[in-house]
Amino acid sequence: MENLWTKNLRKIDPYVPGEQSSDRDIVKLNANENPYPPSPMAVQAIKNFDTGSLRFYPNANATPLKRAIADYYNVGVENVFLGNGSDDVIAVAFQALFNSDLPVVFPDLTYSFYPVWCSLFGIPYKNYPVGDDFRINAEDYEEKNGGVIIPNPNAPTSVGEGRDFVEKIMEYNADSVVIIDEAYVDFGGESSVELTKKYENLLVTGTFSKSRSLAGLRIGFAIGSERLVSVLEAVKNSYNSYTVDSISIAAGVASILDDDYFKQTCSKIIETRQYVTAQMRSMGFKVLDSKTNFIFATKDDASMKDMFEYLKTQKVYIRYFSLPRIENYVRITIGTDREMEIFLEKVKEYIG
Ligand code: PMP
Repeated sequence: MENLWTKNLRKIDPYVPGEQSSDRDIVKLNANENPYPPSPMAVQAIKNFDTGSLRFYPNANATPLKRAIADYYNVGVENVFLGNGSDDVIAVAFQALFNSDLPVVFPDLTYSFYPVWCSLFGIPYKNYPVGDDFRINAEDYEEKNGGVIIPNPNAPTSVGEGRDFVEKIMEYNADSVVIIDEAYVDFGGESSVELTKKYENLLVTGTFSKSRSLAGLRIGFAIGSERLVSVLEAVKNSYNSYTVDSISIAAGVASILDDDYFKQTCSKIIETRQYVTAQMRSMGFKVLDSKTNFIFATKDDASMKDMFEYLKTQKVYIRYFSLPRIENYVRITIGTDREMEIFLEKVKEYIG
């Protein structure tokens, strides 16, 4: 007989991230990580870090990092919220800002963590299908709702919308909080951070995991009105006062200061992305125009699931989602030129 206490255990289907591997030979293009190392200045900040200070709690407000981000984006320190990766920031935002009986709304094809947070926190939600071209239709979001979250650019589609799109969403949603998740914006997207000065109900989230090569440190942030940020702080301080550790604060500040390196590595990824897109199109793939550090591709006469599995046997990891509408698509993170040559070679081998 089953123990009675088991009936009190939470049953939930968690989000499943891209597979990790300790095998250094693997060409790892499955988790939208940056193929280049973090800024040398961030590395130096970690090497210089006074480990003796680790016995103290970090600065509770992570103020040095908040200030660096505030200066970078030309907003006030009081407009910046920090967390343990943007997953943490968005999870706090869901709890702090989505407390309506009406459903929170987001696209059907999007970051698959959103429905997981909704079910964890008991938030009703509703999806609006993206078009056949994978564009998000702003008019869908005119309907009354309990909050809006849209990644821009979107994942896994890689498609980015302009600031006019976000303005439309804001016009339709004067009565809701709108979150724009800008995890991938630095690879050619249009940021809506400026709009947070115009709309008190707009929160923009960002991360150091992609464009700043610091996925392992876990630094995420949000920018918004003081009103929104103060509620995020209150919720965060109701479960964990110290979500950002001292080493992350030091390295994060250094990363922000090294703008040349940031711009160089982002440009390089964009250049490689354009090359790989052209190569794949010449092989007969349909590749969406990407504004991110990954591409989303399909081929009418080939099984993308089989290609994903074949590449895995060849030590090239990409991402496949067994989901309606995109079951014949793959998502490929942009790696170094060398990694992408290996990838293209293996793809050629697969399609024969
Ligand atoms: N938003 C989107 C759309 C993402 O793809 C990711 C990465 N999985 C995140 C947020 C979270 O990234 P992180 O927690 O590393 O900041």
